[in-house]
Order: sequence, then C-alpha cells, then structure tokens
Amino acid sequence: MNLSKSLFVRGVKCAKSLWLYKNSDIPRDEPDQGQEARFESGRMVGDLAKRLFPGGKEVAFDPENFKGMISQTRKWLDAGVDTIYEATVSARGDFAMADILKRDGDGWEIYEVKASTSVKDYHILDVAFQYRAFSNFGLRIKRAFIIHIDNSYVRKGELDIKGLFAIKDVTHEVVSKQGEIEDYRQKFSTMLKGDMPQVDIGPHCFNFYDCDYMSWCWRNVPERSIFNLYRLTQAKKFELYQEGILKISDIPEDFRPNAIQALQIETEKTGSVHVDRKKIRQFLSRLSYPIHFFDFETFNEPIPRFDGQRPYMHIPFQYSLHILYEDGNLEHREFLADENEDPRNHVISHMLKDIRPQGSIVAFNKGFEEGIIKGLADYDPLRKNELLSLLERFEDLMEPFRNGGYYHPEFNGSLSLKSVLPAIFPDDKTLDYNGLEIRNGGMAMDTFATLHLIKDREEREKIRNALLEYCRLDTLALLRLYEFLCKVAGL
Ligand code: SF4
Repeated sequence: MNLSKSLFVRGVKCAKSLWLYKNSDIPRDEPDQGQEARFESGRMVGDLAKRLFPGGKEVAFDPENFKGMISQTRKWLDAGVDTIYEATVSARGDFAMADILKRDGDGWEIYEVKASTSVKDYHILDVAFQYRAFSNFGLRIKRAFIIHIDNSYVRKGELDIKGLFAIKDVTHEVVSKQGEIEDYRQKFSTMLKGDMPQVDIGPHCFNFYDCDYMSWCWRNVPERSIFNLYRLTQAKKFELYQEGILKISDIPEDFRPNAIQALQIETEKTGSVHVDRKKIRQFLSRLSYPIHFFDFETFNEPIPRFDGQRPYMHIPFQYSLHILYEDGNLEHREFLADENEDPRNHVISHMLKDIRPQGSIVAFNKGFEEGIIKGLADYDPLRKNELLSLLERFEDLMEPFRNGGYYHPEFNGSLSLKSVLPAIFPDDKTLDYNGLEIRNGGMAMDTFATLHLIKDREEREKIRNALLEYCRLDTLALLRLYEFLCKVAGL
C-alpha cells in the first residue's frame, strides 16, 4: 500500500475518507476561494521560511514525476548538499516531502513549515509520518521541527525572518508517535482491501479540516436541520443526530433551547415569522440622525508588509457609508485604498472626514467594526481620541434579530447579514449578492490582499470596481433592513 503524508492524515481523520479516495470515483468537493487563498499563503510562507536556512538546493515540484524528485534528492544527498528544500523520498510504500532537510553532523534535521500561529495535533502526525519515511529511506533523523508563524511579531522596517517565525522542536512527540503510525498503517492496509467502512457522519468530518466528501456523505441531511440550530454546540448537534433527530420540527419537547433556538424551532414548526415590535422599537428609538450605515472591509495576511503590522492582523482597506438625514436625504461615501501602500492612514483620514460630527453609526455585528477602530487608534496615537470617540456612537443592527425582535424561518439559524437579507428580501435583485463578482467579505479580503501582485492596470481597475460594488451593497443592505424594521415596528 502506497501512502503519502496527506493520505495518511486523511485516514487518521476518517477511514472512509481514505477508502473513498483510494477506491472510488466519487468526486471530492472543490476547494472554495478561501481555501485556495489559504493554500497560496501557505506556499508563500513555506518559500519565505527557506530563508531561515539559506544556500540550500531546491527539488522542483513535479506532480507528474515524483520518481524524478526522489532521484534528484538522492543525487544531492550523495553530492554532500547540506540543506535541501522539498526533499522527497519514498520508502516501504511511504511517500514524503520535507519542506527543509538540513544536515546535522552525521544525521539530519527535518523542518516542516506551517502558516498557522501554533502547532496543531495533526501537524505532529504529519511530521511523524515524514520522520518514518525519511528514516526508512536510510537517513538518520536526529531532530524534527515545526516552523510556524509567531503572531507576536510586529514588523518594523525590513522583514525580520527570524522574528516572524517560531521554531518548535517536536522530536520527542514525533518519536513517541512511531508505534501509532505503524498501527494505523496496518489498519489502513486491511481496511483498503475490504468494502467501504461503515462510518457515519460525525465530528470527525470537521477534524483537522473540513472533509472534501461532505457533499456526498451529508447528502441526506436536509437544508434546514438540527445542524443549523443557532449556536448549538457540535457535541449537542451530534447527540440529537444519534437519537435519530434530523429535522428541526422533530426536536422533542424535553430539548431545552436558548431563546433564539426556541424561535427557530417555533417558526420552523408554524412556518410563520416571529415579530416582537416592542424590542424592535426599543432598538430603533436609540438611533439618532443622521444615521450612518457603515461597513469596513479588511484583509489579513501571514507575512506583514507594513510597519506596525502583525501577522494575520485585520487591516481595513475599504469602507462604505450610507448617511440618512432626518429630511430623508441619502448620501453615499466610500473609500478604497491604494493596494500598494499601507491603507490605514488614508482610511482614517477619509473616514474622519466622511462621518458627520453627530448621529448614530450603525453596523451589522458592530464588535468587528469597533475592534478595527480600536486597532486604528493604536496605530495612530495623534488621532486616537477622535477615533475612540466614534465608538460611543455605534449601534448594532444585528441586535433586533439577536434579541428576538424579528425571526424568519428562512434565517435557518444564522443571523449573518448574508442569511437575514435574502430571507427578508427574497425577490429584490438590487440586494442580491449572487449577481456580483465579489459576493462576500472573505472574497473581498482575499481579492484585495493579492491585488498588488496583479500587473495589468485595467484588470486591477476592474477588480477595484467590483470591490466598491460589493461594499456599497453591504451598507445599502443595512439601510434597507433599517427601513424594513421601521415598517415592521409601525414607525
Ligand atoms: S464526510 Fe465525514 S464521514 Fe464522510 S468521508 Fe468525510 S469525514 Fe468521513
């Protein structure tokens, strides 16, 4: 049985997943844009980490010719090369690549690079598998390490590679896992010769990463199921599932839901909307004109590009602002930063100019916007007070939904803007994100983070327009929800 390290981890996660991969032609779910972006930033982090050990030789990745990669590795080992990037070996059916293989006297050290900010359990499994493959290939592996991002690093001037990365010695954990690896291997070998293992869906579907067979294994789970119950823990969801309860309408009387879950169950059973005018009015009465409907877009990246930036810090690069005046006039303001420079200074200047001196600032899930403003205040001590003074004017448009003022069965247990909006305005094409090129905040984030890498000016301009269109719809959506709530409350 031949196994790569990723197939090995797949098998540990779920035997059925490995069996399907090896023995069936059931299509796997394609990675979405967010996953692709994570793979890409993982590759960038991997390349950068090689600079911790300069002067090495790299084995070029060729998915069509693994044998060639192995023989190139062998040649460099024989030639006495001290550091090899993407060293590739195969031994006793195990196939493994090491991000960095470094000579240490009469033996070798393995370094595995991860774009995460800590070492996860499955990283250890990953390296333990590599340790076994490289040892069986005939190398004496003296130590094994995981290199990961150190999120306490703050860039000042030139990127400090040593400051950006943390290196953790995992030799002890990796060596102690060798028996387990062998047991798994034997189990997989027998399992793969038999019929598909009867593994039901469970928490393991989300272990390490979301399984790419979910479309197939979860095909009998209805769109509105107990797995969509608002903020129910995963353990409780699977408890219900094990009791044979799948539909929300089948939840037994003795289940003790929280307030929103209770509304979800009730509206699912009755098919009608829940409205509490008093709660909606209470919220609306706090708003004062001019009402600012405000939304930030941010990016976060593992490798800081600007001074004062930490890995994965949310940096705002864009906002949209609809301002509703008491006389009914509406104004739209927006800002999208230059993709080639630190956007924060310009975001602050434009925002402080665009926001009127009085009136509520309404965001959806305001904690996010407030957090960004606090970050901007830390970044710019001279305008700190002005920025922080905005915080007391923030109101959260999610509140009347979160406190049970309004619940629609089509929310399906999610109070995000992207769930609430289509439920309330199902036929309004002007509020439909599906027609847009950029359809959610994750896409906006990934798009802007890589925009500076696109050489073609026209292409960049096209993408910038798509970003503006997306963010504008976000605050238009807030305005429409506000108008809707006013109507429901009879105001
Ligand atoms: S979806 Fe779940 S049960 Fe199906 S193969 Fe993946 S992990 Fe296993």
